[in-house]
Amino acid sequence: MQIKDELRSEVEQLKSRGIEPCLAVILVGEDAASAIYVRNKKKACSDLGIRSVGHDLPDTATQDELENLVQELNDDPAVHGILNQFPLPNGLNETRVIQKISPEKDVDGLHPLNAGMIAMGQPRFVSCTPYGVLQMLKRSNIDTSGKKAVVLGRSNLVGRPIATLLSSKGWDSTVTVCHSRTANLADVTSEADILIAAIGIPQYVTANMVKEGAVVIDVGINSIEDSSKKSGTRLVGDVSFEEVEAKASFITPVPGGVGPMTIAMLMVNTVNAARWQNGLPELQI
Ligand code: NAD
Repeated sequence: MQIKDELRSEVEQLKSRGIEPCLAVILVGEDAASAIYVRNKKKACSDLGIRSVGHDLPDTATQDELENLVQELNDDPAVHGILNQFPLPNGLNETRVIQKISPEKDVDGLHPLNAGMIAMGQPRFVSCTPYGVLQMLKRSNIDTSGKKAVVLGRSNLVGRPIATLLSSKGWDSTVTVCHSRTANLADVTSEADILIAAIGIPQYVTANMVKEGAVVIDVGINSIEDSSKKSGTRLVGDVSFEEVEAKASFITPVPGGVGPMTIAMLMVNTVNAARWQNGLPELQI
């Protein structure tokens, strides 16, 4: 991936100036999918020469223990970025953890201050999946200006920031946000020049919902049964890939596509965190 090569040389340069970018990764409990995500993020760090420090807490950890750990990491000048893998086990409050992480170390871009900066058109840390979607559009030379974009999903993590960013200056799309209560969804999606699916329903978007020649970005990651696989399951997106591929001018696959870009953007945010905390300007990517 081109972006990783760019980051690798940037990390080398930072290290030659005595700055070693460092990401702290907190995992609470035993969720199998979360453990895989955390492993992939740590591997991406080591591939690029970024230091990662894992903090694994048992699912019996209390809110205070978790927040005390976050505070320690906030106070540690050697740690530039802090990521708490979600979901948290029952009883722990994600919103409180998000608000506890220092906005300067919030490489997941979830703190209200960073979300607010996006809303004000002055993004600082952009959450990794929306950032990955934008980078994919940019690096694929897809013109978003004046285009009709439809975003399926309004979550704080994915749908809402993508919609806000795409409508902001520089991206300049005319954006419609759809959600679980949207009426006549297919009529809306069929108008889209750019269709972004982030709803978490396997293969929901079918060819009849897509305009001929549309750009289709599939953010969904869903596990479905597949008896031909050893595991008995396989991953699919929110889009019925084969039938929509035949109609789209550009489409991202699942697995692949947005997933790897999301991890790459976490690395960009971590490098930027290290740069900003050392008085250096933002990396141009
Ligand atoms: P979420 O459950 O928080 O939000 C889903 C959204 O979809 C909601 O806003 C809901 O209103 C909307 N929705 C539900 N049913 C709908 C329907 N029938 N029509 C239109 N909208 C509908 O999920 P999320 O965290 O935003 O994640 C969405 C998907 O993206 C999931 O599959 C998730 O696994 C995936 N995801 C992928 C990455 C990545 O790195 N590629 C990162 C985060 C999430």
